[in-house]
Amino acid sequence: MTQLQENCTQNEPLARHTSWKVGGPADIFFTPSSRSELSQFLKSNDGIITWLGNGTNVLVRDGGIRGSVISTKKFFKQIELIEESICRVEVGVSCFELAMFATKNSLGPAAFFSGIPGSIGGALTMNAGCFGHETWEFIKSVEVIDRKGDIHQLDPEEFSYSYRSVKFPFPLWFLSCEMTFPGREVTTIEELRGLRDSRIERQPLNESTCGSVFKNPKGHHAGDLIERSDLKGYRVGGCFVSEKHANFIINDKEATASNIEKLIKHIQDTVKERFGVDLETEVRIIGEHDER
Ligand SMILES: Cc1cc2nc3c(=O)[nH]c(=O)nc-3n(C[C@H](O)[C@H](O)[C@H](O)COP(=O)(O)OP(=O)(O)OC[C@H]3O[C@@H](n4cnc5c(N)ncnc54)[C@H](O)[C@@H]3O)c2cc1C
Repeated sequence: MTQLQENCTQNEPLARHTSWKVGGPADIFFTPSSRSELSQFLKSNDGIITWLGNGTNVLVRDGGIRGSVISTKKFFKQIELIEESICRVEVGVSCFELAMFATKNSLGPAAFFSGIPGSIGGALTMNAGCFGHETWEFIKSVEVIDRKGDIHQLDPEEFSYSYRSVKFPFPLWFLSCEMTFPGREVTTIEELRGLRDSRIERQPLNESTCGSVFKNPKGHHAGDLIERSDLKGYRVGGCFVSEKHANFIINDKEATASNIEKLIKHIQDTVKERFGVDLETEVRIIGEHDER
């Protein structure tokens, strides 16, 4: 068996790879161990490709994903300081690991990354952020791979990004990025602890969730609109709206993705009816409905 075949599994349940712990199987689940292996896979495979980081911002439907899912969770884990205030981070590094690296190398402000459970690949795709900062604020360049398996270096000017949204210049996936932090700032362990405590107080961190389900519409907080619609605690099957933070949906009783999707729709309809506001999902809903 070649290394490439060894790193592929068939019918891999994606519930194992998502923080909501739901999702049917991927036809092929590929965990590349190098750029050349990834490139070879893309060149030799013309099927549908879906990329997965830590699975903390996706709802994978119960029918799973046709084609191949590429996971960077185990490999692409390097992070290094290349100049004072500049680091190079591969996409399998977690946001928490980046924050810890920043504390050790006098880089900042990077404490906000510590509470985001995703990978740097996911953070680049979502423009993840919180506490007044977001990922693309620090990007100096990105290394990407295209559908043909060719690798490119791109500048941030080639992307258009805004609140939780990034538009790519062509279909691509991220492999690594260089990040520049302002020389005068640092990140301290005390800051990380402070942000962790404030999150523990406000968010249901010990539960199976995907973080905030909806983006904040202009001029509103999604959680506030959901709370004022009396939806805290509202349940569909194995999932319900968190009592602690109304923009979180908790899977507490082996929910299906279909339960979660129905609850999302119910929240959107109720908020629209009460306040006339459309809630757009921050979480990405992917895959096939289970037709059985
Ligand atoms: C408890 C909790 C708290 C959270 N708090 C925050 C927060 O404060 N701020 C915030 O912004 N988010 C937050 N999130 C959401 C989530 O962690 C972020 O959106 C994160 O950036 C997603 O990263 P991921 O690796 O899990 O991506 P995934 O969920 O695996 O993927 C998300 C999307 O990115 C794509 N993708 C992943 N890697 C790549 C790549 N290398 N190249 C191209 N596309 C790729 C996927 O195809 C998918 O479309 C929270 C989630 C949880 C569970």
